[in-house]
Amino acid sequence: MVSILGINLFGRKITDKETIKKLLSRIKNMDRFYLNSYLQEVQGKTNRTVKVTGRIKISLGSYSYLGLIGHKKIEKAAIQAIKKYGTGAGGVRLLTGNSTIHKQLEQRIANFKATEDAIVFSSGYVTNMCTIAALFGKDDLVIIDKFDHQSIYDACILSGVAWLRFNHNDLHELETILQDNIKRYKRILIVVDAVYSMDGDIADIPEIIRLAKKYKAFTMVDEAHSLGVLGEHGKGLKEYFNLKSADIDIWMGTLSKAIPAIGGYIAGKKEMITYLRYSAHGFVFSAALPPSVCASAIAAFDIIEKDTKRHKQLKNNISYFLTGVKRLGFNTLMSKDTAIIPVMIGSVIKTFRFAKKCNDLGVFVCPIVYPAVPKDAGRLRCCVMATHTKKDLDNVLRVFEKVGKELSVV
Ligand code: PMP
Repeated sequence: MVSILGINLFGRKITDKETIKKLLSRIKNMDRFYLNSYLQEVQGKTNRTVKVTGRIKISLGSYSYLGLIGHKKIEKAAIQAIKKYGTGAGGVRLLTGNSTIHKQLEQRIANFKATEDAIVFSSGYVTNMCTIAALFGKDDLVIIDKFDHQSIYDACILSGVAWLRFNHNDLHELETILQDNIKRYKRILIVVDAVYSMDGDIADIPEIIRLAKKYKAFTMVDEAHSLGVLGEHGKGLKEYFNLKSADIDIWMGTLSKAIPAIGGYIAGKKEMITYLRYSAHGFVFSAALPPSVCASAIAAFDIIEKDTKRHKQLKNNISYFLTGVKRLGFNTLMSKDTAIIPVMIGSVIKTFRFAKKCNDLGVFVCPIVYPAVPKDAGRLRCCVMATHTKKDLDNVLRVFEKVGKELSVV
């Protein structure tokens, strides 16, 4: 479950004064000891470097993995779309009209994913929330991995569906849950992240597909961190495991990571997508994406398919950085082949200190601590980008080595 800084609003009452007081005092303490690396003001574009209060730092904090923010073709496409369609969509598509650019984006995604159809929503979070709620109900069971994204937890909690979770990547436990529940529910859905956002490891999808077939369960995969990253050409999980599109029932992805826009999508069978267009609350009751965002996303899909050099560079950087961090003696968990490399530090306070020192030394990175991750599993989540240069990565490694020794982490 992902929650930052101890804010887990859905586990508690939002209006609970005690909870709010605790959080505010935690933030005050971080500020008092100059340990707060969150919400730093970034000036200008986010790419391999960021400008923070006038100082350029190497960024490990962005999941724009292919470094496409600021890409000239994408910016041009966005500007042309503004000229043609204006800045806003004007309302929900069902009632305001289904603009050509929205249809084009959905067709582009369906084409990229080789599925019958696709639908876009205004964010990845909303996509997970309202898709699960629209497709599954009180007679169904949703089974999730313990480390699935918060939006999947929230979808289960707020939609009122029965749900269970298995320990991270523990597919024996998943099978036991399937065995125990197959007769108790009308339908079962298994939802996993393709790449786990805090650990950087990859779900064992072929085995999950095998179990789903055996127990007649549906499958949904969140490709937020695998799109543009996994596979020989960055086409994602399907390419990585050599799957067929039909092997997964619900392909979910975001347009906010390797694709430098905003929004989320579901790709799959035409019937399911049409059903979502008329029933998913995040579509029916929420305004459509701005045309410039659609145009940016379309241009980015084109670049992912055509500019294979960029993806190759990302792969080289991942391998170079991961090897370097490991060589220094840091624990990087099971991260492999993904652009998320957790660098394990330990306690909350040590992780805060480590991140602060890195930021002071020109490396922009945020601490990830309990309850986002287990106690004493505090870490720096390092996001590698295609645009990082070897010099950038070497500089980061030097900083990590220095700070690691100072704080006795390595
Ligand atoms: N799924 C995963 C795995 C994520 O990491 C995120 C956000 N980082 C989302 C969904 C939500 O996506 P968005 O930020 O586009 O709302």
